[in-house]
Amino acid sequence: MKNPLNRLSGFAVLAAAMLLAAGCQSPKPDQKACCATSAPACCSKMPMTCPFLATNCPAMATVAPPTKESQAAMTPQSALAELKAGNARFVAGHPLNRNLPADVKATASGQYPFAVVLSCLDSRQPIEIVLDQSIGDIFSARVAGNVLNDDILGSMEFACKVSGAKLIAVIGHSNCGAIKGAVDGVDLGNLTGLLARIQPAIGQVPAEVQPRTSKNPEFVDKVSEANVRLVMQQIRERSPILREMIDQGQISLVGGMYDLSTGEVHFYSNTDK
Ligand SMILES: [Zn+2]
Repeated sequence: MKNPLNRLSGFAVLAAAMLLAAGCQSPKPDQKACCATSAPACCSKMPMTCPFLATNCPAMATVAPPTKESQAAMTPQSALAELKAGNARFVAGHPLNRNLPADVKATASGQYPFAVVLSCLDSRQPIEIVLDQSIGDIFSARVAGNVLNDDILGSMEFACKVSGAKLIAVIGHSNCGAIKGAVDGVDLGNLTGLLARIQPAIGQVPAEVQPRTSKNPEFVDKVSEANVRLVMQQIRERSPILREMIDQGQISLVGGMYDLSTGEVHFYSNTDK
């Protein structure tokens, strides 16, 4: 015969479990309030189940990869604006909401990236993340010191001439180990040849910037910037295909520096100082 007290405690445990489950599923009070406001500061607290998410917090609404139509609708100017906006979202901690498994399926049969980005191998500058871009958004070439070679140049030609990208961005970064290696004249296997590509940038930093060693962060970052400008110049000089597209306004070429300490990318064009 069952003890009624045992049955009662069984009900109590069941009721507690149901309450706990209900509590887990309901938004917390501040989330509930945020669900009904369009204040941007509220977006980080907005539960993903909020029915007003797309209207009140568009940045959190799920976005899909570019299509042939959306790529065609972009201009070199809007492509750069999107990279700037993406970096601003990253810095603010409000990246766009993505459904990556769905994006994989959506891009399986074709890709329509709007930009090609050359950036450094450095683990602290994962370029898609810091520009808040995702599957199908950008072509990405990464190599230590974001140097240029024929294979990367050919890849850029493919990205722009064949695949319709509207922008080439060369993005270096602060405190770059490859730049420091070039400054120090590091000699190590195949790395030696790579660092030799950075050497001309060292000579472009004004003589008054002293001391000219890897221990001087100002000098290292100025060499990084000079290296980005050098690569931009090399792209124009060594690729008649890309130069023509740039001159005709079909694509743009921009440079940028990523700040490892703030997460910000400062973009500049050919003519900026
Ligand atoms: Zn680097």
